[in-house]
Amino acid sequence: MKIAIMGKIHPDGLTIFEKNNIENFEIENFEEDSLIKNLSDVDGIVIRTANLTSKILSKCRKLKIVSRHGVGYDNVDSEYIFKNSIALAITGTSNAVSVAEHVMTMFLYLTKKIHLSNRLVKSGNFKNKSELPNFFELYKKKILILGFGRIGQELAKRCLGFDMEVYVYDPYVSEDVIKNKKCHPIKKKDGFELADYISIHLPLNDSTRNFINFDDFNLFKKNLILVNTARGGIVNENALLDALKNNIINSAGLDVFETEPPIKDHPLFKQENIILTPHNAALTLECRKRMSIESCMNVFNYLKNIKELNKKI
Ligand code: NAD
Repeated sequence: MKIAIMGKIHPDGLTIFEKNNIENFEIENFEEDSLIKNLSDVDGIVIRTANLTSKILSKCRKLKIVSRHGVGYDNVDSEYIFKNSIALAITGTSNAVSVAEHVMTMFLYLTKKIHLSNRLVKSGNFKNKSELPNFFELYKKKILILGFGRIGQELAKRCLGFDMEVYVYDPYVSEDVIKNKKCHPIKKKDGFELADYISIHLPLNDSTRNFINFDDFNLFKKNLILVNTARGGIVNENALLDALKNNIINSAGLDVFETEPPIKDHPLFKQENIILTPHNAALTLECRKRMSIESCMNVFNYLKNIKELNKKI
């Protein structure tokens, strides 16, 4: 049995393979030709954020499982995987808490304008605090959560802890489930019009690309703080830039970009009213350990079980 690890992961997961004498190796070169060569005889792949196209997958003649170190799988050609009966695993129990905390960090940072207070004190201007712009409370503010899955629900708990009013748009989750969690189901447009905060927790696919586009910014309140930790492309970046430049909304936080890494001198970098992080919302040490263990366990359990199954047949 041979496993490829595409991208560095925390060593805790690899001990599962080592204890069970399973050959495994790390890949750092993600160029197509190199992947085709290195993946040709692997039984399983643990993958971080590199792309696995159908061309590469079609050359993996022994592949039985692709295991994502994370939950989104838009970097893997899932159509090819499903058509060819290759299993796809995600680390569904690992990262919701870290991402929800990252969103709260962005909300608090942008709401309290902490960077301006920090700059004031460090520049020796402690006494001039009345010159700082207004900053605010989260208390009683209205948040719209788009997508009420694992991360959306963890975020809701934290917002309720701050006594926020939590609205949810997710037509695939029953209204009773949303209400039982002390949140209010709402239609997309109504939510856009009432929200003081929006946080996105949708998968990226054909129905969610440009989910927030130019026209939507006309619906938003001027004080809106918009945070996207899901995937780049769900919020149209040009529309966001336009809204931030023209103060159509208050500010934004992004952990994800349409192209990653974003181009050098990306026009969003010049905006004071945005905070950016390098797609690391889930990369707390605790979460990296959990994702590493869960992604390797998924490969191990799957391959062990299909071996048993094949023996019985
Ligand atoms: P999840 O599958 O548990 O939840 C997604 C929710 O979105 C589901 O409840 C689904 O019903 C809803 N949904 C799907 N399409 C929708 C639509 N068109 N309109 C409204 N709702 C829709 O996923 P999750 O674990 O909560 O993760 C959400 C996304 O966050 C992932 O797909 C991933 O791309 C992203 N993510 C980012 C990071 C990071 O490091 N920044 C980490 C983990 C996950």
